[in-house]
Amino acid sequence: MEFTQSFPRRKTHQIMVGDVPVGGGAPITIQSMTITKTADHEATLQQIYALAAAGCDIVRATCNEPEAAEGLARIVPRSPVPIVADIHHQYRRALEALEAGVHCLRLNPGNIRKPEHIKAVAKEAKDRNVPIRIGVNGGSLDPKLYDKYGGKVTPEAMVESALQEIAYFEEVDFDLIKISVKASSVPLMIEAYRQLSEVTDHPLHLGVTEAGPPPVGTLKATAGIATLLAEGIGDTIRYSLTADPVEEAKAGRQLLEAMGLRKRKNVDLIACPSCGRAEVDVFTVAQDAMEAFGQREIPLQVAVMGCVVNGPGEARDADLGIAAGNKRGHLFVKGQNVMVVPEDEMVETLVEWAEFIHEHGADAALEKAKATKDQAKRAAEEDRARNLDERGDDANESEAVIAEIRRSSG
Ligand code: SF4
Repeated sequence: MEFTQSFPRRKTHQIMVGDVPVGGGAPITIQSMTITKTADHEATLQQIYALAAAGCDIVRATCNEPEAAEGLARIVPRSPVPIVADIHHQYRRALEALEAGVHCLRLNPGNIRKPEHIKAVAKEAKDRNVPIRIGVNGGSLDPKLYDKYGGKVTPEAMVESALQEIAYFEEVDFDLIKISVKASSVPLMIEAYRQLSEVTDHPLHLGVTEAGPPPVGTLKATAGIATLLAEGIGDTIRYSLTADPVEEAKAGRQLLEAMGLRKRKNVDLIACPSCGRAEVDVFTVAQDAMEAFGQREIPLQVAVMGCVVNGPGEARDADLGIAAGNKRGHLFVKGQNVMVVPEDEMVETLVEWAEFIHEHGADAALEKAKATKDQAKRAAEEDRARNLDERGDDANESEAVIAEIRRSSG
């Protein structure tokens, strides 16, 4: 049984982005952004469908030219998820995007600075009941605030920028707001969101901006987003990766699943790190298994373990697993040996049994293995004894290394 922990969430107002609730205790949503030209509505729609299939709940597209607004008019009615128009510099694009029927706007207060323009957009959005994200970005802070805070981007400056913008919206009685205070520095964004969550109950959109290419970008984004989510801060998230946006959606989904904040959709593949006792190339088998499961919707935990000495025990909480031993694979369900298969059939056997368990449950799988269980248990014991015989208790020869360290230091 997987250990789950719920993180108490800070209470925020709820807004609706199309038919997707954000904040107010609604499930945390995943966002991403298309990288096609929005004017090319067919290509953009294709990307939106791919993002939705990868678990994305809300998709943003740039509205940087009148043709993009026209593209949005064609995209919105055919999109499977709500669309946010990204606006920079030109408030007219915001008005056109609203006309195109988008479900939300994203404005950057650092580059739409005239209060009358902000208020004109807010008024139009209010009439249409469309929310707005105030997207403060550490890299494009209003120069006045930059100067005020000593020529530095600080959490305080970012929060002040957000609060200034909220005040403009409040003047026209508009409160369908969500806010982000993204920065490419993880500590900066963490502190900015912490401070912001103390002074507002508008829903927060989390992200580390310009995180870069995976895997480092994914790590940076995870460090920032996961830290805040664990503190109960955040209502919707985006990974900003220099990669196919589908990777952003997948990373977001995997993070929420790993934190127990979203129901698992795909296999959670766990694998041992391998060691001197391994009887198979664990890296290759785990990789092959990842590929074989791909995007199949099997929400089980599946283990790939390098040896039968420790594998089944270490992965006994997995729904299903396989451990290598003497050129064969020992399949186990809920820690019980059920079958032995040749080494080159390990991956396909895992997939087959995972599908069976997903459909019929682990008890049915144990029942199905009634005839092979005893023989599988004996075979696992044989291979375990053989491995221990051949490699001894200290398969990694750490004791010999320790003796050498003692000898050289003594
Ligand atoms: S002892 Fe076995 S299961 Fe554990 S890391 Fe080594 S090979 Fe993998």
